[in-house]
Amino acid sequence: MKEVKEFQTESKELLNLMINSIYSNNEIFLRELISNASDAIDKYRYKALTSDGKIPLQDFGIDIKVNKKKRSITIADNGIGMNREELVENLGTIAKSGSKDFASRLKEAKEKQDLDIIGQFGVGFYSAFMVASKVEVLTKTIDEKGCLFISDGRESYTIEDAEKEQVGTEITIYLKKSTKEVDYDGFLEEYRIRNLVKKYSDYIRYPIRMLVKKKEQKLDKDGKPIEGKFEDKEVLETLNSMIPLWKKNKKEVTDEELNAFYKDKFNDYTDPFTSLFLKVDGKITYDALLFIPSHIPYNLYSENYEKGLQLYSKGIFIKDKCPELIPDYLKFVKGLVDSGDFSLNISREMLQQSPIMKKISDNIEKKIIDNLKGIKKNDFEKYISFWKNFGDHIKYGLYATYGTKKELLQDLLVFPSLNNDDKYISLNEYKENMGKKQKYIYYASGENLDAIKLLPQIEKYKKNGIDVLLLDQKIDEFAILMLREFDKVEFKSISDEAADEVSKEDQEKVEKLTNENKRLLDTLKESLSEKVDDVVISTKLVEAPVCLSTKDGLSLEMEKTLNEQPGMEQNVKAQKVLEINPNHALFEAFSAIQKEDEKVKKYASILYEEAMLLEGRNVTNKQEFVEKINDLMLTALKK
Ligand code: ADP
Repeated sequence: MKEVKEFQTESKELLNLMINSIYSNNEIFLRELISNASDAIDKYRYKALTSDGKIPLQDFGIDIKVNKKKRSITIADNGIGMNREELVENLGTIAKSGSKDFASRLKEAKEKQDLDIIGQFGVGFYSAFMVASKVEVLTKTIDEKGCLFISDGRESYTIEDAEKEQVGTEITIYLKKSTKEVDYDGFLEEYRIRNLVKKYSDYIRYPIRMLVKKKEQKLDKDGKPIEGKFEDKEVLETLNSMIPLWKKNKKEVTDEELNAFYKDKFNDYTDPFTSLFLKVDGKITYDALLFIPSHIPYNLYSENYEKGLQLYSKGIFIKDKCPELIPDYLKFVKGLVDSGDFSLNISREMLQQSPIMKKISDNIEKKIIDNLKGIKKNDFEKYISFWKNFGDHIKYGLYATYGTKKELLQDLLVFPSLNNDDKYISLNEYKENMGKKQKYIYYASGENLDAIKLLPQIEKYKKNGIDVLLLDQKIDEFAILMLREFDKVEFKSISDEAADEVSKEDQEKVEKLTNENKRLLDTLKESLSEKVDDVVISTKLVEAPVCLSTKDGLSLEMEKTLNEQPGMEQNVKAQKVLEINPNHALFEAFSAIQKEDEKVKKYASILYEEAMLLEGRNVTNKQEFVEKINDLMLTALKK
């Protein structure tokens, strides 16, 4: 039965991009198709090995056939194959995981003419349409009849039953006509294909074979070579070395190879930020290749992002995403683990509970963190590029594990700081630069660096040259909360009521003023009782008239972050204290009329709203605020 089916809308958009692309890297289509073929053989092999002998193993391989007359290239594998439904599901639909994010990203990419987007999605198969005007997929599974999929990659495709003897898939691409800009015919040349296989697919574990022309000495009737006489012969040659990269000798593997491997295997278009090649030989033996991307994976924050590493046993593929191998906070790490300590038949449940898995995971975690520490030490600038992408995940690691990973992770932390022109410094550096009398590691939090530097509380630190860490990410304070201290020095928010170190003299002055202005403070407290827990005379302020500080560890920023969380039924409330600057003219004026309770009450709310504004927050009661300001303006104007 022959069916004509339309591509899914998102697929159409992508195909359109592929067809019209003169993406200079169009040669990657071969790598993509070979990679799919290799995956398909992996799946067949795994099925056979776990079938109790019901499914026979076979001589696995990938064959490339070129037909110059038809201008076609065929890539044939004897892998798992696809049935009709799978053809529709897999080739009629854009790479499932990315589909949701894809539409918006595609639009963005079009605007920027950014064709790199091609490499960012699992669009493997569709890349064929960068070079092909028509693609045929003839495929057969173990249990079902063969099927033929044909498409020009535009609107639709056809599917029909078809004869195929062997299980597996044969993909034939018919090349586009060469143009002035792009030479498609070059792909028909033997040396080109040979080079592409070497370049991108050398480590594929199955032979990639092609009939190649070889000059061989002519033989005489008796089979003896004739001196000086040669003839062209076609021989089947394996083009790749077939050694999985991670099974090679570490010294033999170049960075270029690691990078190429990463890009191919994990669908990225840029080299990784760093790669780790581990060969661990001990109680547990495993090889691992681990990569940290140099940018945030496009789908990292989407719901269907799956963390995990690929799992192999003695070079045989077991599972694509094994979440047990990597802690949540390192979910951006890509890679694979190959360990003979796992049996092929291991079930999902057994994997989850396996103590070997836990040990490997702990070990990998430590290696990654050590590697990052090394980069931080040796190339701080490079480290910062990592930090900007994934620093929040490290902080999340501290927070989500309630500080139990403090020892492991604290040295990775860096923050912009006041005395460092907003550039990042490590906690160690901060500590080393602390004055002898300084008791705490100070930090200030807010929406962004500019807002933080405008906080009224920070003036004093600026004046005294004391450094302050500037926490502009939501997660920051939560992570600091888990740390509590670094190398025996406590952290302190400059907005904490008890933050500053006050001289005895100042202390006495404030006490005196507090006594003298008891009535003023009480009236303010009473009229602001719904908004603040206390009103005090401040030792924190230089120029600003007021500020808001908090008690008991929950800051204004944290209050805001927590209340923004979905599903927060009850509002979280920080304990707020309104602090008044005793050196400001406004205080003197209030102090002078402190017996006139009604007047004090009338303007109390403006003091509070001012403090909110200075903290970078919104006015809470806009209408009342405007009315009161107008009132003040009118009084001033009428004078
Ligand atoms: P990806 O490989 O990133 O999943 P592709 O678009 O390249 O995306 O392929 C989509 C799916 O089609 C694959 O996941 C696989 O299930 C199936 N597929 C592609 N090529 C083959 C093949 N040669 N044999 C069997 N299945 C294949």
